[in-house]
Amino acid sequence: MKLSKYLIPTLKELPADADTLSARLMLRAGLIRKVAAGLYEWLPLGLRVLKKVEQIIREEMDRVNGQEVWLPVLQPRELWDETGRWQVYGKELVRLKDRKDTDFCLAPTAEEVITDLVRREVRSYRELPLLLYQFGTKFRDEIRPRFGVMRAREFYMKDAYSFHADEADLGRMYQDVFEAYNRIFSRCGLAFRPVEAETGAIGGNFSHEFMVLADTGEETIASCEVCGYAANVERAEALPPHVKDEDDMADIEEVDTPDTWTVEDVARLLKVSADKMIKTLFYVADEKPVVALVRGDHELNEAKLQRLLDAKILHKASDEVYQQTAGCDVGYAGPVGLNAVIVADHAVSDVVNGVSGANKKDKHLININVGRDYKPSRYADIRKVQEGDLCPRCQKTFLFHKGIEVGHTFMLGTKYSQAMRAGFLTDKGEKTPFVMGCYGIGVSRIVAAAIEQCHDGNGIIWPEHLAPFDVIVLPLNVSEPALMTTAEKIYHDLKAKGLAVLLDDRDCRAGVKFKDADLLGIPWRVTVGEKKLAVGKAELKKRSSSEIEDVDIDQVTERVSSAKFLGNDISIDENAIIK
Ligand code: ATP
Ligand code: MG
Repeated sequence: MKLSKYLIPTLKELPADADTLSARLMLRAGLIRKVAAGLYEWLPLGLRVLKKVEQIIREEMDRVNGQEVWLPVLQPRELWDETGRWQVYGKELVRLKDRKDTDFCLAPTAEEVITDLVRREVRSYRELPLLLYQFGTKFRDEIRPRFGVMRAREFYMKDAYSFHADEADLGRMYQDVFEAYNRIFSRCGLAFRPVEAETGAIGGNFSHEFMVLADTGEETIASCEVCGYAANVERAEALPPHVKDEDDMADIEEVDTPDTWTVEDVARLLKVSADKMIKTLFYVADEKPVVALVRGDHELNEAKLQRLLDAKILHKASDEVYQQTAGCDVGYAGPVGLNAVIVADHAVSDVVNGVSGANKKDKHLININVGRDYKPSRYADIRKVQEGDLCPRCQKTFLFHKGIEVGHTFMLGTKYSQAMRAGFLTDKGEKTPFVMGCYGIGVSRIVAAAIEQCHDGNGIIWPEHLAPFDVIVLPLNVSEPALMTTAEKIYHDLKAKGLAVLLDDRDCRAGVKFKDADLLGIPWRVTVGEKKLAVGKAELKKRSSSEIEDVDIDQVTERVSSAKFLGNDISIDENAIIK
């Protein structure tokens, strides 16, 4: 491909509204352009990378016997009504009507559609297991689209769904897909880590996220370097506290706390530490009020509370609910004398002489004690883990890392098949619901995540298997015929070896060409300049290294193509999977 005719509109300036490094580089290198918030155009160079990622995923899904399908983006409401998700999904679901006034949504995922397909087409246990996957556009009206294509409203996903006769068979497939995912992210040249995860709106009992490690990631991972336990902090189990208060119980007392309600302010006013405070949080779980208690220095984990209560919908209670139940505003609520279902985090049980709101404006209670002054309905792990917490498996200290979620696997069980009456006949002729799994990968997000991990001050450094081109040939002076002839010969020879080659045939200064070559991040650069050409040489440089090598002109093709094909095997770099 000749650069002078190729649509790669590189930018010298930093795009003003790009909020992360990968978005800036994708815009500057001419991979994408923004149409509106969370909506992007993929330009030729960007699309080449996207297709590389797609192909790696396709090969690995096929290797575990996946069968590619193509499902519609427009999905009828009636399927979503069958699972109840039309109500549950919330505002991320883009809903619209056709000309006959029938409700549809734009696919944010495809459990309903695929379950419907399989219930119509699969009859017997003999046809199982079945692993179907597709590549396609997904729409989610994200509340805050950001970080370029990383959190877009329209994005490109690989979604896969598996159907089984029983849990054991799902377990085997889950393991196969898990390993396929390890191969995919490894082949993409990413440093990543699979972690235990929350199941969210997709549901099911068990799931893993695949995280690309990057300081700019939105997710936080808690991991134990000793036993290998790793989980999203949304999911990570918290151990009950390891140090117990041993003070004697003092008498309960009501104290004035005028205009003071945050944990920090009350703790300062009353001269107590935050771990003596009991936070009292009101929620509504499937329309029933519930009160959650966590220690002042801890944070409630809503996902844990929702799972514990087995609630379809959980949301924070309104001010009215606080008034009705506690007779006061949010900051003055407390568990003493409260007539409500109270769920307390394990750590609350160990707080001796705690402090909480007094259920009266401008008043708090000091020296409150569990058992004597209030009795939670139940104790559970409902808080987020935090720095200093111990691993639930081996009790060593957790480490925290930032990560970008690029893939997510779920054991769904029969959530969708039961709701949609999708079943098969067993060998005994009994109709049984399919046991299901589902497996997503953010194809477009991977491109951004790879850049987030692989770059330097000058631009992108593509991992070899994602690079849009293998090599860029830079003739430094296009008006010099001998130099151009040599550059074009190298270009054609490299192409004949099966490499993807970009020829920078633009009539511009050498400095501009070098800068753009670095920005674009093509793994190999061959520079043809007058001085070296005079002694029969060209310069060879890897984008990832600062070394420049002078190579005989007739050796260039051989050198680059042998290096390329050496690095082209599809074996896995086990070091990339951080266990
Ligand atoms: P997130 O927590 O980041 O919103 P999710 O849990 O909603 O992700 P899934 O429903 O599991 O995501 O979707 C599968 C994959 O699609 C994710 O692992 C992620 O890589 C990608 N993805 C999800 N939302 C977006 C988005 N808004 N833009 C780009 N990629 C996305
Ligand atoms: Mg999401």
